[in-house]
Amino acid sequence: MSKAAIVAVDDDTAVLNAVERDLRQKYGRQYRIIKSDSGGQALGVLSQLKLRGETVALFVVDQRMPQMTGIQFLEEARLIFPEARKVLLTAYSDTEAAIQAINKVSLDYYLTKPWEPPQEHFYPVLDGLLDDWTANTRLPFEGIRVVGTLWSSACHEVKDFLARNSIPYQWLDIELNEEASRLLKSACADAVKVPVLFFPDGSTLVVPTHQQLAEKVGLRTRPERPFYDVIIIGGGPAGLSASVIASADGLKVLLIERQAPGGQAGNSPKIENFLGFPNGITGSDLTRRAVAQARRFGTEILTTQEVKNIRLEGNTRVAVLSEESEVSAKMVLIATGSWFRTLDLPGIERWNGAGVYYGAAHTEASNYQDQEVLVIGAGNSAAQSILFLSRYVRKVTVLIRGSASTWSRYLDVDIQDNAKVNILYNTELIEILGDEQIREVRVKNGQTGETEILPAAAVFVFIGQKPQSEFVADLLQRTESGHILTGLDLVRDGKRPASWPASRDPMLLETSVPGIFAAGDVRNGTKHGVAAATGDGNAAVSLFWQYLATI
Ligand SMILES: Cc1cc2nc3c(=O)[nH]c(=O)nc-3n(C[C@H](O)[C@H](O)[C@H](O)COP(=O)(O)OP(=O)(O)OC[C@H]3O[C@@H](n4cnc5c(N)ncnc54)[C@H](O)[C@@H]3O)c2cc1C
Repeated sequence: MSKAAIVAVDDDTAVLNAVERDLRQKYGRQYRIIKSDSGGQALGVLSQLKLRGETVALFVVDQRMPQMTGIQFLEEARLIFPEARKVLLTAYSDTEAAIQAINKVSLDYYLTKPWEPPQEHFYPVLDGLLDDWTANTRLPFEGIRVVGTLWSSACHEVKDFLARNSIPYQWLDIELNEEASRLLKSACADAVKVPVLFFPDGSTLVVPTHQQLAEKVGLRTRPERPFYDVIIIGGGPAGLSASVIASADGLKVLLIERQAPGGQAGNSPKIENFLGFPNGITGSDLTRRAVAQARRFGTEILTTQEVKNIRLEGNTRVAVLSEESEVSAKMVLIATGSWFRTLDLPGIERWNGAGVYYGAAHTEASNYQDQEVLVIGAGNSAAQSILFLSRYVRKVTVLIRGSASTWSRYLDVDIQDNAKVNILYNTELIEILGDEQIREVRVKNGQTGETEILPAAAVFVFIGQKPQSEFVADLLQRTESGHILTGLDLVRDGKRPASWPASRDPMLLETSVPGIFAAGDVRNGTKHGVAAATGDGNAAVSLFWQYLATI
């Protein structure tokens, strides 16, 4: 397989040569750099590449060219290489056109000329886009193969785990793929116990636990040291943001994540309301960047480790891990977020993870190509998933219990425009019908009492969020809903909590135990969302320093 190409197009020879020089200097070893002085000529080259089975990772294209503008070129080029990332070079006066192009051609970035020095203005942008392309593009497969069936929750868990940890894998369904049966035979395995994972080194794992899988793919699962400045529990936006800032400040940080970093945000097909990403960013891309940033500053990240409990030993806070092993720190930040409750329907257990999925659509959407699916929920996470699913499925029926949705306007506009989406208001799911797999659902209109059977191959659930704070139920003060109380929420009628030992009030994000803080969706009073969670995580770090000054 030859190297993927980066294609630069500009009619101005001096600029074209400068782009080529900068591209070659940084990316010449890894990518083939191709330059062209017109859109028409470049399209010819792209057709040739396509015929030879080669691929393009990135276009860097000038907007102002005679005959064919940069945007017109990208409109054509993306039909040939839809996965390639797209950067438009613009003059200041073309900014408006570039912003329009974000929607028109899914432009990834526009760079105002000149971009000198490239180390500051050019390479950081391209590095991010090329990393993203590498992580999301299917090259000839040399990685992990997962053999299983769509109707197994163990298979869903393994796929979800790999996807959320950005580990590329190939899914081979035993019902649809001959290679799957061939692989099972070669490993003397059968179709009863799935998933079976085949690794490039020739080894296999049958129905592995998350921890076995994490160890096999080289993720850290045990702490390096016994004691840290701060332990952060939960690797969603709040935990990751605190990790980046705290470790950049020089604190020794251990982040413990039960499954894979990213949290709920890691499940988002496209976050469009986060500062600095005008054309949105996928949850997995945001997570990959944040994890790289946290690691770069020295945060140690453990995955597949769940904190079961927190013990106090004087000023030391001890996190009890799933294997009954422990790790200690001066401070703890609880950033365990929230997750969706499982549906309360008779017999639901057999469908959970095997046709009924909670909070996630991106791992399974492509398995329901041209089928009808059901989405339950009226918030932003449901809306994003409806739009994402509609790229694959024939029809998305949406059940909303009330008479209106609560998702944001920018999502509503796209949903209203989408012919594949049908919304049923005042309607609830009451029964799932199927044999080996889900075939239909029975729904009930709460106003008329009428029931109806609808075709559905899968159900995606985005309702009933619950804060993940049970593990500190005996230690910290929480609301009835399970949200952790912090700061002045703990002071009632001027009185601090009875167990509060310090001669000061709890700090803003501090819980009812000094030195234990809470941030993000798990905290009482926070506005749910990526920006609020990262803000909380960030704010917690300045409180760490204030707390350290008191002990
Ligand atoms: C599909 C979807 C799309 C969304 N889209 C958007 C959007 O576009 N814009 C927006 O602003 N918001 C969006 N949200 C909401 C946003 O993602 C959340 O508000 C945000 O992720 C909360 O961050 P957090 O760090 O507080 O918690 P979470 O993201 O919930 O992360 C908590 C983490 O803690 C881990 N954990 C829990 N308990 C333990 C334990 N005991 N030990 C170890 N680890 C533990 C969990 O596994 C999880 O990874 C979306 C949510 C979903 C589900």
